[in-house]
Amino acid sequence: MVRVRYAPSPTGTLHIGGARTALFNYLFARHEGGRFILRVEDTDQSRQIEGSEEAMMRGLRSLGIVWDEGPDQDGGYGPYRQSERLHRHQAMADQLLAEHKAYRCFCTPEQLEQDRAQLQAQGLPPRYSGRCRGLSEDEVRARAGERSVVRFKAPVEGDTVVHDIIRGQVRFDNRVFDDFVIMKPDYTPVYNFAVVIDDHDMGITHVIRGEEHLPNTPKQIFIFEALGFEVPAFAHLPMILAPDRSKLSKRHGATSVEEYRDQGIVLGALANYLLLLGWSSPDGREILTIDEAAQEFTLERVQHTAAIYDQKKLEWMSHEYMIALPVEQVAEAVRPFIRYSTDHGPDFLSVVGLSRERAFTLVQLAEQMHFFYEAPETYEAKGVAKHFGAGAVERLEALAERLSQQADWNHDALLATYDQLSEELGVKRAELIHPTRLAVSGRTVGPGLFELVELLGPTATVDRLRQAADRIRAGSI
Ligand code: GLU
Repeated sequence: MVRVRYAPSPTGTLHIGGARTALFNYLFARHEGGRFILRVEDTDQSRQIEGSEEAMMRGLRSLGIVWDEGPDQDGGYGPYRQSERLHRHQAMADQLLAEHKAYRCFCTPEQLEQDRAQLQAQGLPPRYSGRCRGLSEDEVRARAGERSVVRFKAPVEGDTVVHDIIRGQVRFDNRVFDDFVIMKPDYTPVYNFAVVIDDHDMGITHVIRGEEHLPNTPKQIFIFEALGFEVPAFAHLPMILAPDRSKLSKRHGATSVEEYRDQGIVLGALANYLLLLGWSSPDGREILTIDEAAQEFTLERVQHTAAIYDQKKLEWMSHEYMIALPVEQVAEAVRPFIRYSTDHGPDFLSVVGLSRERAFTLVQLAEQMHFFYEAPETYEAKGVAKHFGAGAVERLEALAERLSQQADWNHDALLATYDQLSEELGVKRAELIHPTRLAVSGRTVGPGLFELVELLGPTATVDRLRQAADRIRAGSI
């Protein structure tokens, strides 16, 4: 059975790259009818940030990514926190030492530095010199009390080939690897060692992770083989780059799932967008839910060239979700962004339904809904110049007067009234529509005016027309 894992280090919040890795693992597991495991790689205590395991879990769940096994979900392969697996890492290090596949190294940092400098002076790559490789067992025993690390005896010649599902065969010259450290002086494992034991113990069949780990893979293969473990399949996902092809960073906008949520990106859209960072559906469809994608997801369709992050496209997708989702769901999603009372005023769902047509984010939606519940205090400056000029006071007052008599308050009847009044005043209908929109909403753009006014209702409409007229007359705009 396919078993895959997402193995974050709890060093912050869930970032877009990590979320994409988790998503692809999840989709692959779903497609293959396998299991998706969450493993927390918390061995490097110094880099850990309090609460980040929970934050990551929250982030994953908010995107609809759920795990079958993890720290909070036992599946018989636990523990799922790397720090709780130390006895396994130590037992395996003991085994490699006993089999002479690894050795104790007593070199001090100064010694290492000196050796490296010497190699460099000879024009050789600065790697570990191998100074402790040949120590006899007696020597090692005699120095047992000294500070030491464990190094793996890496092959000194030949090639190692990584069979990567996405990239094909990637060949590494073994001479680029030195006898790397697998256990630190406190006899805790480094990432490259722990990850192999954990992947094996958890029955991982496919390792799907970011491309930055490709250079680690040969070292991990050495260890799999040294321990007599079956080597899993590998799939390294392409990097995610900014539009200028630089590394994605804060200056390109949000990079963590939490930040996107705070910006009001619809989370379903974010999950959908992540999907397209390196994968495409066979029929080229771009809007598809995680469930739909799971049916079509194969690693063969993952590209090996970098994926380019595009905030505009993400916002477009957020808009597409906003207009396609059931209005009740959008209403619930926009609630946390609303900072004004909606207790009085038009029906909330209707306001959401009408306003969502023009919003890309939930933040924008909340802003655009505001005037339905509170009269505008200010009016868009460019609208004032255009629509509140000569004759506006008279037109606004005529409208207020006429609308206060309006019998049927609905779209068609309102349209008829505007037509009639424009004829009587000898002005174009637009010359009534634009000032009305500005007076009631403070904005120059928005939903169709008659839908808007119908929903806003007679009292608020008439009051706001009068108020705008008064303000213009008083010069207080
Ligand atoms: N903890 C590692 C990371 O966060 C996991 C890498 C892997 O998937 O092997 O990058």
